[in-house]
Amino acid sequence: MPRLKCGVKTCVFYRERHCTRENIVVKGSTALAEEETKCQSFSREVPDNRDDRYKMEIGSIGEINYHMPVYCEAVNCKFNTHRVCRAKEIKIDGSRALHSDQTFCSSFAIK
Ligand code: SF4
Ligand code: SF4
Repeated sequence: MPRLKCGVKTCVFYRERHCTRENIVVKGSTALAEEETKCQSFSREVPDNRDDRYKMEIGSIGEINYHMPVYCEAVNCKFNTHRVCRAKEIKIDGSRALHSDQTFCSSFAIK
């Protein structure tokens, strides 16, 4: 699973250039360039902590996860194998994003 860095400071999961989630989902099934991908896990709001999904997704609240599974639909990326990212390291970007559409995987590389 990749080492993940993130530059999306507006995301509630962001901390010190990294992500605190247990995993992320990247979208972009027809993407041919990095701008056409997005981090679907981006959120501006803390999820409802009564929700079981919250505990599954977040794990240790606030702690950076340096490596995590990245489930990615960008099948045109050379690092994508069966919708899982096999890159050693990736970077999610979109520093002023207010919506997941304004984020992207800057490590996308066409097959
Ligand atoms: S934009 Fe994605 S990778 Fe970055 S902190 Fe948010 S959920 Fe994590
Ligand atoms: S590097 Fe490629 S396979 Fe990995 S998350 Fe980014 S777009 Fe998906």
